[in-house]
Amino acid sequence: MVSDLFQALWDFLFPAHCPLCHKYVKNKGDWCKPCLQQVCQPMRLPVPVPMQPFVGSAWALCIYRGGTRELLRRLKYRRQQSTLPYIQHLLLAAAADKGITALLSWCEAAVPVPLHVSREQQRGFNQSERIFAEWLQVHGVPMIRALQRVRPTLPMYKLTPEERRQNIKGAFAVCAAGSVAGKRILLVDDILTTGATLCACAQELKRAGAAEVRVLVLASDHRD
Ligand SMILES: [Zn+2]
Repeated sequence: MVSDLFQALWDFLFPAHCPLCHKYVKNKGDWCKPCLQQVCQPMRLPVPVPMQPFVGSAWALCIYRGGTRELLRRLKYRRQQSTLPYIQHLLLAAAADKGITALLSWCEAAVPVPLHVSREQQRGFNQSERIFAEWLQVHGVPMIRALQRVRPTLPMYKLTPEERRQNIKGAFAVCAAGSVAGKRILLVDDILTTGATLCACAQELKRAGAAEVRVLVLASDHRD
C-alpha cells in the first residue's frame, strides 16, 4: 500500500520519457516511435578481413551514435543500470527483424565477450551479459560464460590497429571447451568498432572446436 503510493508519487514526479528526445511516453523504458525507428536499425555488417577465417557473419542491432552511445556510456562508465530497460526495449524491437530472427534460431548457445576479473569487479557486472541475457533467454538461447580474459588489456580507443592486435594477443582463453565444441555459437558484445577483441574471441572459440561463430553486437559505428 505504502509502496503503491510511493510509486504513484514517483511516477508523477518523474514521468516516463524517451531517452533521446525526452518526450513523455507511456511506460518506463519506452522510446517514442520516431526515435526508436531512427536508432533501432538491425543490419548485417561486413566482416573485417582479419576476422573472416573465424566469423561466419556479423550483425548489429543499432547504429552507435546519439542515443545508443550515450546509453552505453552511462551503463559502462557510470554503472547506471537504469539504462537497461531502454536497451531491452531496443532489443525487443530488433527481434522483429527477419535477419535477427534467423540468427537467433540458428545459434545453439551465446557466449559473451568477457571482461578481466578486476574490471568486472570494479564495474560490478559484464555489460555484454547484462544487455543480452534476458533477451536471449526469452528466445531460448542459453548463455555460456565459455571465455575468460586471462590478462588485463589497455583501453582500445587509444591504440593504433597494430597496437590493438598486440594488446589483445593471448588475452582470451576458453574455459569451458566441452560446452562450445561442435556448436553454432553466437558471440555477443556491446559494440563493434575495429573488431580486434571479437576477432581474438572468435579465434579461441574456433580453436576449442566451435562449429561456426557468428557475431552480434548491440551497436556498430559502421555506415554504408
Ligand atoms: Zn524520442
